[in-house]
Amino acid sequence: GSTARLQAVSAVTNYTPFSDPLNFVDTPSRELFGENVFNANAMRERLPKDIYKKLLKTIDNGEKLDYSIADQVASAMKDWAIEKGATHYAHVFFPLTGQTAEKHDSFLEPDGNGEAITEFSGKQLIQGEPDASSFPSGGLRATFEARGYTAWDVTSPAYILENPNGTTLCIPTAFVSWTGEALDKKTPVLRSMQAINEQAQRVLKLFGHENVARVNATAGAEQEYFLIDRNFYFARPDLVAAGRTVFGAQPPKGQELDDHYFGAIPERVLACMLDTERELYKLGVPVKTRHNEVAPGQYEVAPVFENANVATDHQQLVMIMLRRVAQKYGMECLMHEKPFAGVNGSGKHVNWSLGNATQGNLLEPGDTPHENAQFLVFCAAVIRSVHKYGHLLRAVIASAGNDHRLGANEAPPAILSIFLGDQLTDVFEQIKKGSLTGSKKPGTLTVGVDTLPSLPRHAGDRNRTSPFAFTGNKFEFRAVGSNQSIAGPLVALNTIVAESLDYIATEIEKETKGSPKKFNAAVQKVLKKVLGDHDKVIFNGDGYSEEWHKEAEKRGLPNLRTAADALPVITSPEVVKVFKKYNVLNERELASRQETYLEQYCIQIDVESKVALKLARTAIFPAAIRHQRELAETCAHLKAVGYTFDTDSLDEVTGLVKKLQDAIGVLDKAVVKGDALGHDLKKKSAFYRDHLLPAMLSVREHADALEAIVADDLWSLPTYQEMLFIK
Ligand code: ADP
Ligand code: MG
Repeated sequence: GSTARLQAVSAVTNYTPFSDPLNFVDTPSRELFGENVFNANAMRERLPKDIYKKLLKTIDNGEKLDYSIADQVASAMKDWAIEKGATHYAHVFFPLTGQTAEKHDSFLEPDGNGEAITEFSGKQLIQGEPDASSFPSGGLRATFEARGYTAWDVTSPAYILENPNGTTLCIPTAFVSWTGEALDKKTPVLRSMQAINEQAQRVLKLFGHENVARVNATAGAEQEYFLIDRNFYFARPDLVAAGRTVFGAQPPKGQELDDHYFGAIPERVLACMLDTERELYKLGVPVKTRHNEVAPGQYEVAPVFENANVATDHQQLVMIMLRRVAQKYGMECLMHEKPFAGVNGSGKHVNWSLGNATQGNLLEPGDTPHENAQFLVFCAAVIRSVHKYGHLLRAVIASAGNDHRLGANEAPPAILSIFLGDQLTDVFEQIKKGSLTGSKKPGTLTVGVDTLPSLPRHAGDRNRTSPFAFTGNKFEFRAVGSNQSIAGPLVALNTIVAESLDYIATEIEKETKGSPKKFNAAVQKVLKKVLGDHDKVIFNGDGYSEEWHKEAEKRGLPNLRTAADALPVITSPEVVKVFKKYNVLNERELASRQETYLEQYCIQIDVESKVALKLARTAIFPAAIRHQRELAETCAHLKAVGYTFDTDSLDEVTGLVKKLQDAIGVLDKAVVKGDALGHDLKKKSAFYRDHLLPAMLSVREHADALEAIVADDLWSLPTYQEMLFIK
């Protein structure tokens, strides 16, 4: 075979497994864990006691860092890193693109006598100045003030990233403009953690807790991804350029047989997973669960939850390692939300809760009545937030890629609702009706702090169609896209729940006026009001159904179908107000995010449309007319020797070729028009949504129909069948 496709098939068939097996006997995974992290242990060993204690105060309690200790910390970090073979250090930061960025500097400094010393000062640890002009800032950084600074995030541990030819000390940092505005994804996470801590502490104090430890948002993100052979990947320019296939007929065998989900993991894939996990263990990333996912070629990895800031950094490392290690095994890891039409897309379930060292998980229903009332308050705060800011939660997961999943009957709909499960819903129903006071009959409950029986732990029912589900002792935000940073969803959740906790605490304080005797009644009254106002967002039924879409509309829940519809929410007055009130993002910072994400949306679709146009013209159309010519020649020959017949096959191809040609013409015009639209991003994104995407789909429809009939040896693009099923 001469096509790229047939060469790829033969390369895949001849793949020889990686012949340097991992060894978990000599180095058990327990010993590997955290090996390359400058963690509490490493710090205790290498730092003077008082300095170690000061650092811990910042890390554990969020106290302001005493910068006078930076020189000593830097020097200990440098020695540790150099012992591990590091030659460079890098400030790692998280620009608005959702990627991870690094700027490397050598430890070496010339000593003036033709030789060099190694140096890493406190100042170099604390602050860096990457050339940031090429990162999108959504207008926050005009060129005359192009400088951006990276600032050491003490609360996320430094680590060593290994490479076959040398290693680098990586320091997680926040990335801000010289005016202190956030240019990145981390800064608002840190600010939102502060906001939720303050408000959660207030509520806990109302419940009579003294000396409450810092409350953290916790997060654990389940990552879905595809693995395909790299030979196929490079034979698919659409995958390389846009991360998804813009053409491809459905394979004869799709995911209907369900034989892949939780089936045995193919050997090459398992080897790759083991290797990825091994690298992540070294970095202290607590990956725990792995399994096949619904679609053929699709898998999932999930960690144990951590403090949300650290979990966010670790999530970025998970994505980096998945991509990097896959290549070692001759595969490409696809993290796009919908690399293949017609089979399951990839999401990232973000599990979220609140907890601290003294009270534990605040969304754990618990065994005692006292804990229950407190749990109900925290749970009600989440319900209120998701109802009040559902449109914001939709906006923070908006991207061109995720649009292919949301509402496509495989992933949660674009309507934000909460699944609570029957039992919890019933409890809230009763609170709302106010029929519980004093009652101790089985099946009914009171919110009286002393009389509330225990709630069911880990209510068993699961509803996969809900975008936001209570799953026993945490909420699971399931609509997040596989390719997205989890920072945006976490920032939004922390901020809006802080606002609800603030509201509830304030209302309770108003009711009790400082009298503890009135506390139970106050909690009950406030819960009743909150649920009365916000239980419209609770929905336990089938989120994919047509009825739900109608019902949701009746309930007034927004249904923002595309990213172009959802992103403008980021600068709506109520969103600006809540982010400002809790000092998470100011109006300029929000505007810059909206601008950047709209731009990303347009860039993604622009690239897709251009690669679609190119492939349609240079790969699909030529294959189609060659096939057409063969048929025509055959017909002519048959006619010449006197056969009479009808020309169905030729007519079919000719019809499709014509339609393809017309559709290419329409797409071409739309691309040209899109390019000429200038920089009004709202207008541009609307045009891409309404014209460019449909034009691409129309080309695809005819191209995929042709794939089903054109001679196999003429087709140059690897097929879905090949990419998804050859292992
Ligand atoms: P699945 O959703 O696949 O059934 P689980 O419900 O067991 O799996 O969820 C697993 C994920 O939930 C893990 O990533 C885990 O770390 C996370 N998780 C568990 N408890 C919490 C918590 N208190 N806060 C945040 N995430 C949590
Ligand atoms: Mg899950």
